[in-house]
Amino acid sequence: MWLPCRCATKYVVASFRRGVSASFLHVLRRGRSSWNSAAFMPESAGFEGVSGRDALHDYSVSHGESFWDAVARQRLSWIRPFDAVQDCDLSQGRIKWFEGGKLNVSVNCLDRHVHTCPERVALIWERDEQGSEVRYTYRELLEMTCRLGNLLRRHGVKKGDCVTIYMPTCPLAVASMLACARIGAAHNVVFAGFSSEALAERIRDAQSSTVITVNQGVRGGKITELKRTVDAAVQSCPTVRQVFVAMRTEKRVEMTDRDFTLEEEMLKEDVVCEPAAMDSEDVLFLLYTSGSTGKPKGLVHTQAGYLLYAALTHRYVFGYHDGDVFGCVADIGWITGHSYTVYGPLANGGTTVLFESTPVYPDPGRYWDMVERLRINQFYGAPTAIRLLIKYGDQWVKKYDRSSLTTLGSVGEPINTEAWEWYNRVVGEGRCPVVDTWWQTETGGICIAPKPSEPDAEIVPGMAMRPFFGIKPVLMDTEGKLLTSNNTSGALCMALPWPGMARTIHNNHQRFLETYFQPYPGYFFTGDGAYRSQEGYYQITGRLDDVINVSGHRIGTAEIEDVLNQCSAVAESAVIGYSHNIKGQGKYQRVYAFVVLKKGVDIQEADLSKQLNSMVSEKIAKYACPDFIQLAKRLPKTRSGKIMRRVLRKVVDCDLDGLGDLSTLDDPAAVQEIIEGHEKLS
Ligand code: ATP
Ligand code: MG
Repeated sequence: MWLPCRCATKYVVASFRRGVSASFLHVLRRGRSSWNSAAFMPESAGFEGVSGRDALHDYSVSHGESFWDAVARQRLSWIRPFDAVQDCDLSQGRIKWFEGGKLNVSVNCLDRHVHTCPERVALIWERDEQGSEVRYTYRELLEMTCRLGNLLRRHGVKKGDCVTIYMPTCPLAVASMLACARIGAAHNVVFAGFSSEALAERIRDAQSSTVITVNQGVRGGKITELKRTVDAAVQSCPTVRQVFVAMRTEKRVEMTDRDFTLEEEMLKEDVVCEPAAMDSEDVLFLLYTSGSTGKPKGLVHTQAGYLLYAALTHRYVFGYHDGDVFGCVADIGWITGHSYTVYGPLANGGTTVLFESTPVYPDPGRYWDMVERLRINQFYGAPTAIRLLIKYGDQWVKKYDRSSLTTLGSVGEPINTEAWEWYNRVVGEGRCPVVDTWWQTETGGICIAPKPSEPDAEIVPGMAMRPFFGIKPVLMDTEGKLLTSNNTSGALCMALPWPGMARTIHNNHQRFLETYFQPYPGYFFTGDGAYRSQEGYYQITGRLDDVINVSGHRIGTAEIEDVLNQCSAVAESAVIGYSHNIKGQGKYQRVYAFVVLKKGVDIQEADLSKQLNSMVSEKIAKYACPDFIQLAKRLPKTRSGKIMRRVLRKVVDCDLDGLGDLSTLDDPAAVQEIIEGHEKLS
């Protein structure tokens, strides 16, 4: 595997000097400053009468053009400035930002930092083998990226082509993404845990001629034969001409005429690579969603708007400051890895951690050992991992020094109250703000989060709370009417476009229009439900597909799960609506709960059911009590760790032929267990 070479013979001086603006340098050197909107976001100094976060948010939605114009000019380095800030029409699904502008994303993420601080650490690769981390400076990452860019060019990859990257989270994967950006190719990162069929489908959809992979993956102490998976996949992918194979382990793998050893080929290349001048709206990457609600969608993100939005949200939601170490543990195969492991932190000149392992390897203290060792300041993880770690007890956290932590982030699913409190109290010792960040592959970056906020503004547990700059959430009722009052729930939509939003679904623009723009004309429809509190804060109540209607009450499954998870015996739960036809009374929905118990818990089912029912009636209402409780060893989840309730619904409806697309299912055995458990119950 490519390791940093301290004796690089050529010092890289890229040709992109002119774009680095003085104010960008000012931002980099600014350090921690007191709160007022100009200090917070230097370019806002020009917005007359704007003072404080809330006023700046109001300004960003009421004067979107001027807000994004200033921010884009100051935050990004342009080869050619843009002519128009935006040309968007949500009623048509048309989204275009910064047209006429030309830039290169890799230059924004690398070269401009190499000019100012070449020896700053860009990446800390937290390898699966605990305690063997490797650091890469901006200079080294640029060098790697340039060699890779030259290699791809020499092998015929052109502007507009799409390269599939099937690699674990590692420096060469990041350099591969940036190399694509450098030469103007799009990337299509596929999570390196997917089967050969799922990989093949994504290669075919992207029509990739080039795949980059590793000989073997190493995760949680286990070896996975990634090259072998690629071999099987490309058999049904006639477009693939070449496969580059990096050596993660010493093991030699079978190579064909089509295969090249990546490191060997890179050594032949120069460390300077001319960056392509890309239009703002050229494609940067395509990426598939998690597939929680159906067949994954290959969403397309473009250059300038995406990068700007990832950078801005990274800096302000997490309170990232120069010199901080940012630890996002998401795999680069998901949008969280794209925006907050790679593009956001690197565009900000930050130091970002590449986490290759699992939260429980070699033991459940892995995250916190890493926090202590790498002095991580912002830690960003998922509720599913937090719930898993709670099961093992506090001692695994307390063993390690977490004094470096300043912010704790959560993403992927609603974070239940118990998990939020544990994260806050045990991990953060009550002194780190917990930011529950709501967003999607489609949104490109965080849209709703507790931060930034006015100083000392409250954070309500389990609430995503405040829209980010430029974001205007609205709620719709079941008839499609705008809900204007507070203390209300509805379908979460966005009333304004923002630069980070996806532009289309690859090869299926019609599905893009139908899914996001047609349900509520003039708005972007998220597919999620939300509650807006009396104070105007947002809480995500789950997917609208998961809303159930019991005894005439519409209730999000997340709300019931939140209560079930507070029971001391319960590790996690999943609730679905079970349709029931009663003669003469029509269709009824009843609450069906799948419950996973904590390790070592021994409880009679009748007692558990009594406890859960009394908790739900007390905290929500009697009608929300589960009619059925099925104990399960584990829940079916996507590979990104989200509960697949649609699969549970089909099992309970005994519609096993209708389970749908299971390509992103983590462990098929979990579904089999659920089916068997259900058969025993019924
Ligand atoms: P698919 O769209 O294929 O069904 P997916 O929606 O799970 O898959 P992602 O884009 O990875 O794919 O996930 C986005 C979804 O994750 C959101 O729409 C939301 O339902 C959920 N989500 C993300 N963050 C949060 C959060 N902080 N609170 C609640 N839900 C969240
Ligand atoms: Mg989705």
